[in-house]
Amino acid sequence: MTDTIMKTCTKCGVAKGFAEFHRDAKGKHGLMSMCKVCNSAKASAWKKQNRDRANESSKTWSRENKEARNAIVRKSRAKHADARRSMERKRAAKLRLESAEYREKNKLRCKEWYEANRSRALEQMASRYAEKRDLLLAKMRTYYKARGGEIAKIRREKLVDSYVFNSLGIRGVNADAVPQTLIDLQRARLLVHRAIRKGKQA
Ligand SMILES: [Zn+2]
Repeated sequence: MTDTIMKTCTKCGVAKGFAEFHRDAKGKHGLMSMCKVCNSAKASAWKKQNRDRANESSKTWSRENKEARNAIVRKSRAKHADARRSMERKRAAKLRLESAEYREKNKLRCKEWYEANRSRALEQMASRYAEKRDLLLAKMRTYYKARGGEIAKIRREKLVDSYVFNSLGIRGVNADAVPQTLIDLQRARLLVHRAIRKGKQA
């Protein structure tokens, strides 16, 4: 209930709840006379004007309070983790766009990481895919709707393996189970048929 009791800051003159004041055993009500906001403003103004002394005293404090300092660093890292990650991603994206050297180095680094963490990488990929599955499928559908005719034409003209496999008309068999020689034979057959048809047309 300390929040309901007010105290007036001697600096800004605003009446604030007790929680807005740092503790000070010597102060009235056991609190500092200045509110937290004014106190930190004063502290940073002093630091700005006394940079060397501020650095020195902060170093000394860190040396003498290692545990407390590490706790502060940990807390701050956790607090800003998301922001830092997104900043790093933005920086990396910019570098990828602008620097060929970075792209090469990054490719190598990714490859090394992948080789050292293969199972983790696969897990990550699977979970990312699961997260975005619906979005990806919708994207594919729109793309195919827009370019489906064009894609089918290219598949037919180039006689890609999956097109040749479909032309075999085998039901209930996975394409992977069909030997490549059979695909190649069927492709040759289709080419012969096309040549004959062309000959008849001419
Ligand atoms: Zn104040």
